[in-house]
Amino acid sequence: MCIGHAAVGFASKAAAPRASLGVLLAAPFLLDLLWPVFILTGVESASIEPGNTAFTPIAFDSTPWSHSLLMAVLWGALFGFLVHIVSRSVLAGGVVALGVVSHWICDAVVHRPDLPLTPNGTIFVGMGLWNSRAGTLALELPLFALGVWLYLRTTKPKDATGRWALAGLIAFFLVAYAGTAFGPPPPNMTVVGWTGIAGLILIPWAAWVDAHRDLVDEMA
Ligand SMILES: [Zn+2]
Repeated sequence: MCIGHAAVGFASKAAAPRASLGVLLAAPFLLDLLWPVFILTGVESASIEPGNTAFTPIAFDSTPWSHSLLMAVLWGALFGFLVHIVSRSVLAGGVVALGVVSHWICDAVVHRPDLPLTPNGTIFVGMGLWNSRAGTLALELPLFALGVWLYLRTTKPKDATGRWALAGLIAFFLVAYAGTAFGPPPPNMTVVGWTGIAGLILIPWAAWVDAHRDLVDEMA
């Protein structure tokens, strides 16, 4: 899944309003931020097979450390704990932990059965919505709209940056998503890996957006 994860991040603001959108978006993307690191270092493997699914040509050959259910829960607990320590908010830590685990659940809807339950397990999960490009878009686009709507309902721009940096962030997600859905397959996994790592820019971008927005409740 792609912008479905962003939907969870935006929607999380309604659950943990005091947490920054940067952290709230990092959580549901965490597994996909670890994945390119594991791919580039050879810890995990994936390959490009055009036609593998209708939506993406990337085959997850072996991704036990980033994309097993058990590791998703452990990464979620670790990230949630760190956020709890830094923010002194149990709520923020809990929402972030759930955000990390939501990645695996959302991925289980779209992936082929290639997501292991445990790192060395032999049971693989995946409902395969990626086999239908139209089906994937029909699920993810409304989810993304719902998440953004919840964020807009929870926050208000303090200034022009709060409005336009957010518009830019939303546009970036949509353009990147269109590229994934309709663009040509990537040339190789090294490019995929570095593109994934470049996605880290979204975290400071989202934090910047959030710093220029107020909570609606506080303004009333
Ligand atoms: Zn994933």
